[in-house]
Amino acid sequence: MKEEDFRVRAAPSPTGRVHTGNLRTFLNNFLFAKSTNGKYILRIEDTDQKRKVEGGIEAIVETLGLYNIEFDESPLKGGGYEPYIQSQRLDIYKKYAQQLVEKDCAYYCFCTQERLQSLREQDERSTYDRHCRDLNEEEVKNNLDEKKPYVVRMKFPLDGVTEFRDEIYGTIKVKNSEVDDQVLLKTDEYPTYHFAVVVDDHLMDITHVFRGREYLSQTPKNVFLYDSLGWERPKWVHTPHLLNPDGVGKLSKRKGAMSAVSYLRKGYLPDAVLNYLALCGWAPKGDVAKQDEIYTVQELIELFSIDRMKKSNARYDENKLNHMNSKHVRNMGLEKLTEYVFHWAENLVLKNFIADEYDESEDWEKELKQDVKKYLPLWKENEEYFKKALNLEFERITYLAELPKALDFFYKKELTWSDEDWNTKNHSKKEIADALENILPKLENIFGNEEYSHEKWEEVVRGYADELDWKHGDLFLAVRSATTGRLKSPPLLESFEIMGWEKVKTFLKQAINWLRS
Ligand code: GLU
Repeated sequence: MKEEDFRVRAAPSPTGRVHTGNLRTFLNNFLFAKSTNGKYILRIEDTDQKRKVEGGIEAIVETLGLYNIEFDESPLKGGGYEPYIQSQRLDIYKKYAQQLVEKDCAYYCFCTQERLQSLREQDERSTYDRHCRDLNEEEVKNNLDEKKPYVVRMKFPLDGVTEFRDEIYGTIKVKNSEVDDQVLLKTDEYPTYHFAVVVDDHLMDITHVFRGREYLSQTPKNVFLYDSLGWERPKWVHTPHLLNPDGVGKLSKRKGAMSAVSYLRKGYLPDAVLNYLALCGWAPKGDVAKQDEIYTVQELIELFSIDRMKKSNARYDENKLNHMNSKHVRNMGLEKLTEYVFHWAENLVLKNFIADEYDESEDWEKELKQDVKKYLPLWKENEEYFKKALNLEFERITYLAELPKALDFFYKKELTWSDEDWNTKNHSKKEIADALENILPKLENIFGNEEYSHEKWEEVVRGYADELDWKHGDLFLAVRSATTGRLKSPPLLESFEIMGWEKVKTFLKQAINWLRS
């Protein structure tokens, strides 16, 4: 088969939510489809109607679109294999369930809920006791005539071994005695996952099934159905899990998973998130592998291959993601980044998405919205000024949500401080105020006349520190706190150049007043 005939699918439930783990599954399929020039299909598994939400499909498509992950076929855009929503395919499942019964590969089961319940009560781990497996034709007919509710179960071989190949885990053998007679069609005529997935993957010509490794032990059920219906098996690619940072359990919201929209809103770049997630369980090898692990999505597409996927689970590592994001931010360069910051502020932070309906926004999201609402008009008012300020900060930040605070002193008319914004280890607030008061005219002398140079500015501060018998660093820190409102900031001289002397002077005076009050 030619690679461009490859077809992969994502098969989410329409809950509207796309969190870290789901995003990684969507990404693996996407990278494989793009790397082979195959097709990427979105199919919606809504057979559990309780989990379905209004707008859930739109939310998923919209969220992935923000990461530039597009589908070639989906319920929203069609594609020749309709319908792409399982609840609209019930007659199809019914037809194949009947075929399986006729082939003696499945049977009607009329056991009541009460009976099944009492089986479970006897032994919690017990599987169905195959009570209806050998009903004779007449018994079945009578029950059907009497309109007794039924389910359809697969008639799984009682002995022997089922063998299949997984592209990551190799040849897998499972004893048939360990597999139960799985329900295929429920009383309400909805299919179960194990049945629908086979019917749909076959009818939609899916060639590669990427799914979590938790399905590996269940795959014999799928194998049995493919073989019984005389259908060619797809290639299975069971992917290792993304675990919580402590290695216990699949990544959960409580331990750091975020919604795919929230990452972008926080100012992680789409490429950085995808870069990080792609490397959870996969890595390129040889000469093409980069030491720093920083790849664009285009590079990931070019390098992706199933044989480099790992067998072991990965752990979520926020520090690594942060590190990668700051690298991607730097690599963007000032021009592109400036454009992206405006896009981020307008189209990601301030905009509401359908997905927001299903994920409660966090406190930081609410605060960020307020900050951006306040600063964005100021940023846009003078793009050159903004760019200069951003130039000093962008190599220092991890994600863009830090920007409103990081840049605030360039925009504020008045600074405010708290005690933690000053270094008072060696000198009291009063001493600092006195020092600032005395250094102000000295600074005015150079900046007021714009006769400054790096040497001159340092000479003034060091010289006056010597006069006071202070450590140089203490005086530099005092000036930094006074003029930026914080102990850490970009280089002062460069900041002053952007802010202009009048603003610096105003802040110095405000600081002196604050320190004396
Ligand atoms: N609906 C299933 C899930 O979300 C899909 C599994 C599959 O890809 O087959 O886990």
